[in-house]
Amino acid sequence: MLKQKVQELFNEPGCATNQAKSDSERKRGCSTKGLMPGAAAGGCAYDGALIALQPITDVVHLVHGPIACAGNAWDNRHAASSGSKLYRMGFTTDMSELDVIHGGEKKLWKAIKDVIADRNPPAVFVYQTCVPALIGDDVEKVCEVATEKLGVPVIPVNAPGFVGSKNLGNKLGGEALLDHVIGTMEPDDAGPTDVNIIGEYNLSGELWQVRPLFEKLGIRLRACITGDARYRDVATAHRARVNMMVCSQAMINVGRKMQERWGIPYFEGSFYGIEDTSDVLRTMSRLLVQQGADASLIDRAEALIAKEEENAWAAIRAYKPRLDGKKVLLYTGGHKSWSVVSALQEVGMEVVRTSVRKATSNDKARALDLMDGEESALVGAIPAPEMYRMLEEGEADIMLSGGRTQFVALKARRPWLDINQERHYAYAGYVGMVELVRQLDKAVNNPMWATVQKDAPWDADGNILTGGEG
Ligand code: SF4
Repeated sequence: MLKQKVQELFNEPGCATNQAKSDSERKRGCSTKGLMPGAAAGGCAYDGALIALQPITDVVHLVHGPIACAGNAWDNRHAASSGSKLYRMGFTTDMSELDVIHGGEKKLWKAIKDVIADRNPPAVFVYQTCVPALIGDDVEKVCEVATEKLGVPVIPVNAPGFVGSKNLGNKLGGEALLDHVIGTMEPDDAGPTDVNIIGEYNLSGELWQVRPLFEKLGIRLRACITGDARYRDVATAHRARVNMMVCSQAMINVGRKMQERWGIPYFEGSFYGIEDTSDVLRTMSRLLVQQGADASLIDRAEALIAKEEENAWAAIRAYKPRLDGKKVLLYTGGHKSWSVVSALQEVGMEVVRTSVRKATSNDKARALDLMDGEESALVGAIPAPEMYRMLEEGEADIMLSGGRTQFVALKARRPWLDINQERHYAYAGYVGMVELVRQLDKAVNNPMWATVQKDAPWDADGNILTGGEG
């Protein structure tokens, strides 16, 4: 059954990347990269499923497997909660050698029973991992029996690490919601302006930067799948009128199947960048009106966009005197290869190169447009020595990238800002772009660089370490 599910996801008609592949490529799956031993964080399907579902904050997330699976994948992002903190507590069956010999199903059953008695959660999510999957533990059956006998939904998340990449795991997490959660409860307050956001995980509180915009327009967020989510919100998500897919690569199957099952139209959008945030508000309002909301919503959205854009640009322009002329190496990819460029240009910064890894052809065209058609400014992967050279020789004053490349910048003694998923600051919506520029200013104009970039006194004198003349 799992094999069939995985194959279905490789054939997902809503995923443009999958559809662009040949039949044999598609069979090989979502990622062409092999799994790296020891690189479980961000690496395996189970980790992807946990990342996608852990932001449901009021449920127990129980990892069925050796303790290392829970440890490796634990809380490696900063998905924030405005209420319950239960999601931040680690639960695992901690399988040992004896369980491998005798099977782990009884242990799992006992763990589910204990955790329900102890925590009284609205649901328990059980994550299958490699070891129990290889010895044949039937997690789905245990969950079914537990749901029946204990009267609490126990949701199997069948995404053992070996089936594939993190991206595949995201989608398998979405399948668990479609099979066992969404549509299982009825709301008593469904309204004409209810929407869901899918693929937004509220990293560092980004959802909270855009939620007020919806509230100002009277748009109600029924469920964010899964940022700052509650079990009940997700279970009633099928009554929303419109779905927005934030990171469409991650959970496109959820948007497409919700459209198929409940007729909810979906669109892809992003909260990174001013223009993009405005596009989201426009598209969402238009679709809601098509679905029966009051037509005045469109004009109200335009008025809000005009006001918010004006405020955001004014706040960003205030940083111009401090950032004008600074050069940026933007090493991220996908949508972010262009969506933050206009804010950087507004403060007079020059983007010397932007990486277009994982970018669609549309992303590349927009990046090229912003870079004045200069194709050499659009790059794929940059080898670490080249990155180091650019920073060291002053071709770039700061690098914006993810955590994995931070050490290149640190070694070159140049500023660096994290703009990928492990970031500690929230950069969504209009206020998020202002925050990004503020953090850039703090990073690039930090007075410590003057000291850090000087030669060490012993190097300046010629010394024991360099074997100089001292
Ligand atoms: S599920 Fe498998 S690949 Fe993933 S962390 Fe556990 S053992 Fe490693």
